[in-house]
Order: sequence, then structure tokens, then C-alpha cells
Amino acid sequence: MLLATVGYDYILSGTRWVNPSHITYSVAPDGVLWDHGTSNLNAAFNAKFGNGVWQRQFALALATWQSVANINIAQVSDSALGFGTFGKSQGDPRFGDIRLGGAPFSNSSNPTLAIGYYPPPQGTTEAGDLEINTTKNFTIGGGGGYDLYSVLLHETGHALGLDHSLNPNTVMFANYEGVRAGLRPEDIAGIQAIYGPRTLDAYQARGLGLGWSSAIDVTAGLGSVRQTTVGNVALNSIGATEYFTVIAPSTPGATLQVTAAAGNVSLLSPKISLYDGAGNLLGAAANPSAWSNNVSVTTAQIVPGQRYFVAVTGATSDAFAIGAYQLQVAFTGGTSPNNPAVTPPQVTPPGMITAPPVIGSKVGPDRFESNNTFALATNLGAVPGAVTVANLTLDTSSDLDNFIFRNGKAGVYRVTATGAAIRIFDGYGNQLAAGTGDVSIRIFKPRTSLYVQISSATGTENANYSLIVSAKNARAVATASVKVRRPLHRQLALWAVRPRV
Ligand SMILES: [Zn+2]
Repeated sequence: MLLATVGYDYILSGTRWVNPSHITYSVAPDGVLWDHGTSNLNAAFNAKFGNGVWQRQFALALATWQSVANINIAQVSDSALGFGTFGKSQGDPRFGDIRLGGAPFSNSSNPTLAIGYYPPPQGTTEAGDLEINTTKNFTIGGGGGYDLYSVLLHETGHALGLDHSLNPNTVMFANYEGVRAGLRPEDIAGIQAIYGPRTLDAYQARGLGLGWSSAIDVTAGLGSVRQTTVGNVALNSIGATEYFTVIAPSTPGATLQVTAAAGNVSLLSPKISLYDGAGNLLGAAANPSAWSNNVSVTTAQIVPGQRYFVAVTGATSDAFAIGAYQLQVAFTGGTSPNNPAVTPPQVTPPGMITAPPVIGSKVGPDRFESNNTFALATNLGAVPGAVTVANLTLDTSSDLDNFIFRNGKAGVYRVTATGAAIRIFDGYGNQLAAGTGDVSIRIFKPRTSLYVQISSATGTENANYSLIVSAKNARAVATASVKVRRPLHRQLALWAVRPRV
């Protein structure tokens, strides 16, 4: 029994993912503005390690935490939006909850290898995001550089809610201490203090699915469509196997397809095997080089009324062998001598749209498009008093309009864009303030360059808005509702190279 000391062996950040059963992650494409510059992670690491190699190290780091805690992490796609884009901190459909980017930190003496942000609440979408300092010499396996898996294991610990421990033996210690083969018991105690250990699924908890004799019988779920999906099932240790069984319908000539689906469910790399009732293997499928993937076995000429068995286990012997998945069983084709097979009519579930909605008058781009990045920001020049830019649009729901201005003198400046999300950044891309419709910010130095980024606050296009930037005491704009917002509170967790502080 481990007796890990809270405050020494592990320290919690105090924040956690609200939905730990479906945390998503993605890798940001190059070219987007990240925390310390424009992300060049893909180019840098593809050149160094090969495409797919370094992504596996990242996925394995996340899977290592998933393997010991009651969480499931799934890979999703990423769109070309910058770090901290205004949006939902978990479940934003444009990218993962945890995003990985990387940029060359400009100060070459900066000892930081990487940065991890804690889970929400924490800014907006930057909660849980990671940044690699691409100027550092990362390697796989150490060997004179910094082992990428070890660094990402540490940073993903931050992204899941762990602070730095004071125990130098742990992954979450603040300094790089060499290659980590995996988590220490103290790290496991920390993550389990947040999310608990992995739990048996509902079948395993009732003693089902643990062997051939207790195989989970899915026959009753087939129904007239002869298909069923069993969700919320999971493998909870390396080498674990879960067993299912099904009786074929009374339709000669049918084909059976069984699928273990971890796509958008967890980081599991599943292996699925199909057996007949006598225990003969009919087929197996696995792709151990993949993760968060689906594998299927298909067998033709199923014997009507015969029992079949399905076994699901991990395709690997590492952390990718653990995680949640869905089992899908589908009988298709075949004809019944008494009841010729009839193709069931396509039934549209309630709420499903079968045709794209009719789009009325489409919102067109404004005259400054495309100012979608800071580099292409529309320059408003110096703003001594007030400037108004009218007839602007957000021509898509994800359109970003970027502007840059310089203040005349120090003081409070107000930015309004009716109905739109407003974010203000300094010249280094650090977010200073955010809000909807109306944001004020105190600028301490005269002639400071600031970016203003406008995006949809509602998830729809905006057919017409005006941007107004004004000094607080400028006469053109009423100041009654000016709210001074403090800079966004950011939890930077720096991982310094050896020199201790
Ligand atoms: Zn750290």
C-alpha cells in the first residue's frame, strides 16, 4: 500500500476536467500563433523524428495517464486556429481539449523545455494546452538530449491537473531528471486523487465478460435490424480481455461483422477475435501501430442459430492496451427461405437532418478579409482618441478578424464590437483581456502595439458589426459601462532544465 505524501510526492493544481470520461486532444497545425510564437512543431519534429513517430510519443504519454486513472482520452482533428482561441474549454468541436503546439522560444538562454496549462477553468480554450520549445534538442530515449516521452509525460500531467511535486524521483518534479520509463507510484497516487482509479465497466462489475463462460450475450440487442452497439465497455489493465457472445439470426447466407471501436472513445489500440461456438478462430484484427482506432473482423456464411464468441483485448503490451471502446455486432445480407429478406426502409432518427439546411443570403467577406491571423492584421495605426471601423462582417462562424493599433498615451482603452467576441493581445501574442461586445484594458505604456481579435460569440456568422477603439476619456464614445478587466490569469508551469531555483 502506497503512502504518498500530499504536498511532497504530489501536488494538485486544484482544477480538473469536468467530463473526464471524454477528454479530447489534438495537434495544432503549423502556422498558427501559439503561446511563444508561430507554431512550427510539425515541421521541426517531422524532420527530426519522422511523421507519426513523435505523435506516438505524445499519445503514449496521454495513454500512460489514462491507463491508471478513471479517464478516457480520444484523438480528434484540429483546425488552424491560434492558441487560446475564444471558445469552450472542453468539447469545442474545432480542436481537442488538450492541444499540442510548439514554437522556438526567442530567448536562447531560456531553460524551459515545454509548458503545460492546467485544466479549466483557465482562460478559455488554452486550458490543458501544451507548448514545446522547438529550439531544444529532443530525442527519443535521451541520448544526449531530452527524451520527448519523458517531457510530454510531465506536461500532460499538468494538462490533467497535477502541479509540480517536490519529490525528485517523480515525473512531476519540476526539473528534467533524465529518461522516465513511466509513472512512479507517487504520480499515480496524484492522478488518482483527482479522478480515481480505473473502474470496471458495468458488465465486469457484475462478473460478466471475464471469460468464455461469462461472455456478455448481446443477442437480445440485435432487434429486427440485426445490429447492436455495446457502449461503455473498457479494458482496464494490460493483457485484460473482454468476452462477448451472440447467436446468429435464422437467416442463411448472412455475413457477420464485429468491430471494436476506440475511435473518438479512448487511446486504446484494440485487437478483436471472432470464434465459432466450438472455439475455432474465424478471424482476428489489430493494428498495433495505431491508437484510438477501430478494428473489424468480417465472416461470410454464418450458420443460422449458431453461437459465436468475440474476444477484445489490447493490440499492444503497453498503455495503449487500456481504455474504453464500443463493441459493434452487425449481421447483413442473407435470405430466409420462408421470409425473403426485405431491405428495411431508412428511418431518420428524430433530430437528424437528411438534407443540408437551406442557406439564405450568405454573409460576404468584408473589405479587410483576409485578416485571419495576426500577421495579416488590419492596421488601424495610432489611436490617440477614437477610431470607428464600420460595415465589418464575420463571413463564416469561424472567421477571425484581426486588427492592430497603437495607443496614444497610457490609460484605459475601450474596444467595442456589438455582439461579437473580443480578445486583446500584446505584441507577443499574450492575451490581455477578453469579453463579448465590450472590453476595456489599461495600457501602461504609450505607443504600445496591441492586437484586437474579433470572432463569433454565437457560433454563427455576423452580417454587420462596427469596431470602435477609443481612449476612455475620448468624447466620441459614452463611458458609462466601461469595465476594467484584469489580464487573464494564466497558470504557467515551466519545466526548467537542471539548474535549480
Ligand atoms: Zn512542469
